[in-house]
Amino acid sequence: MTDSPDSPDYTDFSAFTDDEWRSRLTPDSYQVLRHAATERAYSHSYTDEETEGVYVCRGCGTELFRSTEKFHSHCGWPSFFDPADSDAVIEKVDDSLGMRRTEVLCATCGGHLGHVFSGEGYDTPTDLRYCINGLALELRAAR
Ligand SMILES: [Zn+2]
Repeated sequence: MTDSPDSPDYTDFSAFTDDEWRSRLTPDSYQVLRHAATERAYSHSYTDEETEGVYVCRGCGTELFRSTEKFHSHCGWPSFFDPADSDAVIEKVDDSLGMRRTEVLCATCGGHLGHVFSGEGYDTPTDLRYCINGLALELRAAR
């Protein structure tokens, strides 16, 4: 079981079967990344994490967010005002739960990460809040 994905390689993640994802991920991360589950608010240590480094996708190891764009939103989930690279994530309209939200997915493996909200008045350069499940991420601390 691979709990710590290696650096991005040339693996074709879109070809992974459900069983392969199950064996690659912890049960909790599998539910978030592959079935768009949402972890409980304030349940993940990354929510208040301040360590400098990069946050990679727990599914495929692609760099998604950086600590320099992380901020304290007090919403209960790790929050970023910008992705590390806009090509690293895909944004998709999500009309589930009777509201229109924008889902954020990993562009490399298609894993569900969370949602992005705009115009909430946070004092950040973008006024965007990428509200991301800690279970979808892995922090690689700066050396
Ligand atoms: Zn990924």
